[in-house]
Amino acid sequence: MRFRPYQWFVEPLLALALRRRRLAALGFDGPVPEVAIDWRREADCEAPCPVVKSKVPRLVERYVARRAGRDDPLRLMPMVIDLARYPDAAAFDAALKARSTRTLPKIRKAEREGYVVRPFLVQSHVFDIHAIRTSMPMRSAGPVLDYWLLKPEKIATPATQRHDFGWPACPVHWIIWWGVFLPEPGYRQGEVEVGERLVAFVKMWRMGDIVHYTEIMGHRDHLEKGVMLLLHRAIVQWLIAGELAAAQGARLLLYGALEHGRAGLLTWKKRAGFRPVRMVADAVEADG
Ligand SMILES: [Zn+2]
Repeated sequence: MRFRPYQWFVEPLLALALRRRRLAALGFDGPVPEVAIDWRREADCEAPCPVVKSKVPRLVERYVARRAGRDDPLRLMPMVIDLARYPDAAAFDAALKARSTRTLPKIRKAEREGYVVRPFLVQSHVFDIHAIRTSMPMRSAGPVLDYWLLKPEKIATPATQRHDFGWPACPVHWIIWWGVFLPEPGYRQGEVEVGERLVAFVKMWRMGDIVHYTEIMGHRDHLEKGVMLLLHRAIVQWLIAGELAAAQGARLLLYGALEHGRAGLLTWKKRAGFRPVRMVADAVEADG
């Protein structure tokens, strides 16, 4: 096991300091729901798979408890959307509307202004990712070290020609970048003409039943346009529709923990449909 000082020492303190108050702010006073998850999904896993399954991934170590029915006050509480609750896109829209009547009008306005959402290849938009990451020194999650330190080449090697996006080989273990784009004729990334500007992105990980927003960020100049909610809703719709293998059978969309960030981040998660749960792996099979 690697030495993880933040995970071992800071996160338990955060959980102890913030959990009760934040649960109360979300209207929870009893136990949160528990969901059994399988991150290996051996039957659906296909080669070449990027995950070495003999090692428990950090994401699972961090968020998934090993025993059902027991509170663990020192573990961060995951914030998730339980995709099984939403049979179709309309059901999810209704949930968004119930949390804030301003969400859907804002998303529709962004669509009318020409913003489009799709997955992309990180190498094709390195300079825009750099521009987004360095557009603000502070975010709702805290200070952004990249604001001062990041060089574009650290993100990925920039592409020198156009490449098409391809879906990952293993449908249940992957990293996919999704972006919000604004068409802009002649727009370039380095030497390559791409004809559109990336203004927001999310780096998503799938680990079997769990799909995780590892990093989600928008450019300062476009945040007021509702691009983050537009991006989020498009991804949830893609997961619910389950038309492609990479979206099929995903159970939970995870976006960090209840204890992460400042109050504004928690409000955003609440409006976006995220709720606290306990995730449990290797639990006894549900008996109906
Ligand atoms: Zn796999």
